[in-house]
Amino acid sequence: MFDRPQPDLYFSQDHLAFRAVLRSFVDREITPNIAAWEDAGRLPRSLYKKAGDLGVMGALYPEEVGGIGGDMFFHVVVSEEISRCGAGGVAASLGSHSIGTPPLVKLGSDALKQQYAVPVIAGDMISALAVTEPGGGSDVAALRTRAVRDGDHYVISGEKTFITSGMQADVFTVAVRTDPDQKGAGGISFILVPGDTPGLSRTPLAKMGWLASDTAHLVFDQCRVPVDNVIGAEGEGFKAAMMNFNNERLTIAIQAYSMAEVCYREALEWAQQRHAFGGPISQQQVIRHKLVDMAARIDAARSLTYDIIWRYQNKMDPLNVHVARTSMAKVTATNAMKFCADEAVQILGGMGFMRGTASERIYREVKVLTIGGGTDEVMKNLAASQLGI
Ligand SMILES: Cc1cc2nc3c(=O)[nH]c(=O)nc-3n(C[C@H](O)[C@H](O)[C@H](O)COP(=O)(O)OP(=O)(O)OC[C@H]3O[C@@H](n4cnc5c(N)ncnc54)[C@H](O)[C@@H]3O)c2cc1C
Repeated sequence: MFDRPQPDLYFSQDHLAFRAVLRSFVDREITPNIAAWEDAGRLPRSLYKKAGDLGVMGALYPEEVGGIGGDMFFHVVVSEEISRCGAGGVAASLGSHSIGTPPLVKLGSDALKQQYAVPVIAGDMISALAVTEPGGGSDVAALRTRAVRDGDHYVISGEKTFITSGMQADVFTVAVRTDPDQKGAGGISFILVPGDTPGLSRTPLAKMGWLASDTAHLVFDQCRVPVDNVIGAEGEGFKAAMMNFNNERLTIAIQAYSMAEVCYREALEWAQQRHAFGGPISQQQVIRHKLVDMAARIDAARSLTYDIIWRYQNKMDPLNVHVARTSMAKVTATNAMKFCADEAVQILGGMGFMRGTASERIYREVKVLTIGGGTDEVMKNLAASQLGI
């Protein structure tokens, strides 16, 4: 029921053709290699180049920086198809540009875009976003990393943590406080820090899931970066960060219902071929109900997400409604994924506890999607404030 082979309100023939190319790319280049990449704790650089050549990195960006200049449903196609591999770490690391690069493309100078956005979109460089600090991630306005002006440079000092692609990134989009006198949201800027900047050190972090993704703790010890590396207007970084988070949350919603669908498909196939008490377990009413409950939650999360994106593209909602619905979609989709991972492991029985099934991996990985990019609690706070509740 989830396949949409015909063009419809959201997907044109071009989207469908792009989807077919990506599906065979994922089947051929990604799915067979996940176990090896999880052992290595990172993706190979060659994957970024192959993905860049196909337009995987470019779906979000305009043609002048090497993107495909499509609408947001091209990004939906990318996120859904990459997630079909059932490994969140692949989606996270291959997609770290989708949180690291949009502020640069929207607000950066032409020179910065040529130097960093173009190679990232081509798959020649890896970008990452560094906002979260050891002192806390939810309260972005409280961030402490300082950038102090010294002639034509900023000198950056501070720490960032849980940074996706942090070990491999060639360039970081870093949220810093450029005006130490301003507390809270004021005085925050985004600045680009090349990965080879003296004084920048990285430590890998061990995790319960996303094993194919490298996650790092970063220390900036008096890192000198040209003033021209500031993205957009100085002191306006908080607003840019919030818009960036909003798009990240839509992406997480897409990844979540897509991963939920992987669980549903695996559980359905298992239930149809696993026999107990004289027949396939799919004929037991309780198992059938579980599968229907899974399908319903996936359908609801996907339909909500498509509707939000379509209405945003067609400028039909005020910003507060868009932000509130996006926050609700992230919670709805990640909770659908949590439900589906749990039920799929249950339907698979002992096999669901074994390494090698997608449901086992997704069961371990679902938690991060209810935390990263804004926790469930923060999403509900945000939706409430945007709706005037
Ligand atoms: C694998 C992984 C990858 C990540 N990748 C990146 C990345 O690439 N870049 C980046 O910048 N960050 C990244 N993060 C960080 C992520 O965005 C943060 O973990 C997240 O925003 C939560 O921040 P925190 O962990 O500091 O929790 P905290 O902010 O300390 O929150 C702890 C708990 O308190 C709750 N809480 C906080 N405030 C409130 C409130 N007002 N009301 C109710 N409850 C509240 C939270 O919901 C949570 O349950 C990543 C995290 C993980 C785990």
